[in-house]
Amino acid sequence: MKPVIALMGRPNVGKSTLFNQLTRSRDALVADFSGLTRDRKYGEGKVGERPYVVIDTGGITGDENGIDLPMAQQSMAAADEADIVLLILDARAGLTGVDQELVSLLRRQSIPFHVVVNKIDGMNSDTAMGDFYSLGIDPLYRIAASHNRGVRSMIEEVLAPF
Ligand code: GDP
Ligand code: MG
Repeated sequence: MKPVIALMGRPNVGKSTLFNQLTRSRDALVADFSGLTRDRKYGEGKVGERPYVVIDTGGITGDENGIDLPMAQQSMAAADEADIVLLILDARAGLTGVDQELVSLLRRQSIPFHVVVNKIDGMNSDTAMGDFYSLGIDPLYRIAASHNRGVRSMIEEVLAPF
């Protein structure tokens, strides 16, 4: 069985860009606006000889009242199908309330996950990572999906136990 990797996170953090890097296809639509990829999207990829399946999700939105549950349910369904959940965060946006709620939700549901901080390109690493240490999660993977930076080593590490 190929391990299944689900990409979760708010819209615009770079999930579809990462999906494209991981599947080396232009299958998942990448756009500058939120909410384009509403449903789950599946792709296959390989690192070395190691095959895997990737699921892209539409992204979880929310406001001061909390996360948008129908959107969250789509992503949680993807998490259920997955062996590996990657929570993608945006270094440029910093840590948001929705990100913190997603972390709490995954913890409450006892879903193991990795945190991947994207868009670290051209940023000072203290500025890029500052807020994220407060999550108390170690390691924090750092990538620039659009530059394919850090992607391969991150995937190798998360696949290692499978
Ligand atoms: P999604 O909504 O989470 O699927 O995010 P997308 O993959 O559609 O990306 C949202 C925007 O972020 C697009 O304009 C991407 O080009 C941009 N983006 C994605 N990854 C990176 C990155 O590593 N660095 C930078 N600077 N921009 C990125
Ligand atoms: Mg997308």
